[in-house]
Amino acid sequence: MSTDKTFRLDGKDIPFEDGETVMDAALRAGEYIPHLCHNPDFPPHGSCRICVVDVNGQHLCACTLPASEDMDVDNSSGAIVDKRRTLLQMLFVEGNHTCPACEKSGACQLQAVAYYTRMLSPHFTHFFPKRSIDASHPDIVFYFNRCILCGLCVRASRDVDEKNVFAISGRGLNSKLVFNSPSGKLGDSDLLATDMAASVCPVGAILPKHLGYETPIGERLYDTMPISVVGDVATHLSANNTSMGDGSDE
Ligand code: SF4
Repeated sequence: MSTDKTFRLDGKDIPFEDGETVMDAALRAGEYIPHLCHNPDFPPHGSCRICVVDVNGQHLCACTLPASEDMDVDNSSGAIVDKRRTLLQMLFVEGNHTCPACEKSGACQLQAVAYYTRMLSPHFTHFFPKRSIDASHPDIVFYFNRCILCGLCVRASRDVDEKNVFAISGRGLNSKLVFNSPSGKLGDSDLLATDMAASVCPVGAILPKHLGYETPIGERLYDTMPISVVGDVATHLSANNTSMGDGSDE
């Protein structure tokens, strides 16, 4: 890499190019910053906040933060890990994430990041929201319970598939994913199982049907390799999702 610019991350010098974010420079240097809504294939979103870091005393999202030479970034202190753990606990109680019964268990980034931060309990009271499952599509099943509103399917459908199948509607706790189709169901949308949007979900919200346990639990991506080692998650997402279907006929 032809740059002599660096910033400090946990005491290490991380090289960066002008315009590059702290997240992208860190990942390229082999330094893992936990994240969920970030995917190197798409513009940063900054919605999940899991990549919070301390920069010169300020808590900021690494995925949207342009790197600069005067930065001293704390990615691993107890205070930062505590903050990430709290954000994860809020995500877990806001939806219905039943990991032992989820087809994505072992290949889910939410679960893997929770393990990485040593989240041992949800801490907060569960909301237990009543959310549906849309299994109207012939090849895909959608679990509203598991959606963390990371917006990756929205970006993939818009920017790669050029279809705009997904959008986030509403605000705050009333936010939800909606489908662009005559009935509002996924079944009569333009989504194809081969679309990038169908394989980009970091959790078990968008799953291919009939393949749920093709790869046995215990042999999946994060069963064999911590998420901190996987690094560029995008490389692995498609392979994971094709082995994480549902088989539901709801
Ligand atoms: S369905 Fe998956 S990819 Fe889409 S917003 Fe929800 S969690 Fe993100």
